Amino acid sequence: MKDTYDAVVVGAGVIGASVGLALARRGWRTLNLDRNAAAGAGSSGSTSAIVRFHYSTAEGCAMARESYYHWLDWPRFLGADDELGLAKYVNTGCLVFKHEGNDHLSRVAQALDELRVPCERLTTSDVERQFPWLDLRAFGPPTTPDDDRFGEPTGGVLPGALYLPESGYVDDAVLACHNLQRACEAHGGRFRFGAEVVEVIRDGGRAAGVRLADGDRVSSRVVINAAGPHSGAVNRLAAALDDMNVRTRPLKQEVCYVPAPSGIDYERTAPLVSDGDTGCYFRPAVGNQILVGSEEPDCDPLDWAADPDDYNTGFTDQWRTQVVRAAQRIRNLGIPARPAGVVDLYDVTEDWIPIYDNSRLPGFYMAVGTSGNQFKNAPVVGRLMAEIVEQVEAGRDHDRDPVQVPLPYVRRTCNAGFFSRLRSANPESSFTVLG
Ligand SMILES: Cc1cc2nc3c(=O)[nH]c(=O)nc-3n(C[C@H](O)[C@H](O)[C@H](O)COP(=O)(O)OP(=O)(O)OC[C@H]3O[C@@H](n4cnc5c(N)ncnc54)[C@H](O)[C@@H]3O)c2cc1C
Repeated sequence: MKDTYDAVVVGAGVIGASVGLALARRGWRTLNLDRNAAAGAGSSGSTSAIVRFHYSTAEGCAMARESYYHWLDWPRFLGADDELGLAKYVNTGCLVFKHEGNDHLSRVAQALDELRVPCERLTTSDVERQFPWLDLRAFGPPTTPDDDRFGEPTGGVLPGALYLPESGYVDDAVLACHNLQRACEAHGGRFRFGAEVVEVIRDGGRAAGVRLADGDRVSSRVVINAAGPHSGAVNRLAAALDDMNVRTRPLKQEVCYVPAPSGIDYERTAPLVSDGDTGCYFRPAVGNQILVGSEEPDCDPLDWAADPDDYNTGFTDQWRTQVVRAAQRIRNLGIPARPAGVVDLYDVTEDWIPIYDNSRLPGFYMAVGTSGNQFKNAPVVGRLMAEIVEQVEAGRDHDRDPVQVPLPYVRRTCNAGFFSRLRSANPESSFTVLG
């Protein structure tokens, strides 16, 4: 074997690069391998990069809040320069509408209060006053365009919202991945691109490295799967699927970009909006655009990709459906004839909660199933995975006695067993991108 490392990370998206950085900081000799040409060229490059805290579980809220502090002080988190500059966190605030489907946000509000996340309870008239460009009539539950009720108000107004002044988005997701790469390299970590892993090599009943499509072999003490929508394929290479109670599947997503209505400085004044009543989320984007994504309302069929390398990468009717839904809420929003935006894949688990874990194959680990909601958490995921890898390699039985990871900013401890592959699907989940 030519090269020998302590850890090979399969993938150099935001998760793989963060895992590489966290291990390199602890003195591990790391190699991130990616079949693409650059860091963040996979699904991380298509992300909406929203940083928000309203997850359906207390653990999800805590992890997002802890990560927020790293985005807020990204240069300090990285501790290294990048010749391309650094990604920036843009604070917009976040408005989350209450509706029956989210139990009027009672559990979320409780979790946020426990974390001391600033959170204002707004009445309908508060929202009207602060955001007069929003139409607060109720339209839900969401329907599809073939339903006569589509786009029609269903009576009454929304019962109010939570407003979180500290939320926003990262302005350049690809640059953020490059920043993580440079920070990892500053600690001696290495990255190799155009390098497709086609085999997980075993030796003595353990993962012992990988073989690449060009025939090269790389030996390492551990192998970590951070392959995004290809995570299932890489788990298959390691024959790691058999004991998994939750698994991963690639799911197609369409994200729409539309111009803001004239007369609104949307880019500088609008918050993120999470609107379960119409089934979509939207946020400001560069050029006074509005980015519109789906919150997976029950009525929408999910477009699973049987093969992450072979699926329809074009826009479909779903694009228009999402924009019409946003136009129910945003007064005077025009619906462009030509779709613009992004098509990519989420890597989704049964309960839309990721898997951060070891596996049935000693030496093989996974940071997968990020379910459309883990870009924001990447800074903490790196540390969480490094802690799991170090403790398991030192002999801890993580499956029986899960690793506990301190979250110093929120003064909590994260029980990493929450993300176990052996869990049953978590019934508290929203079973959507909200996690
Ligand atoms: C449209 C969209 C919108 C989203 N919006 C948000 C949001 O607003 N907020 C949020 O927090 N999250 C969001 N997410 C989720 C978030 O972006 C992802 O969870 C995150 O980017 C996943 O990062 P990753 O590193 O796991 O995967 P990726 O970025 O996909 O990286 C995986 C890498 O592995 C490589 N790879 C795969 N197989 C192999 C192999 N065999 N050999 C070598 N390399 C391999 C790929 O080339 C790829 O570069 C969104 C995701 C999408 C797609």
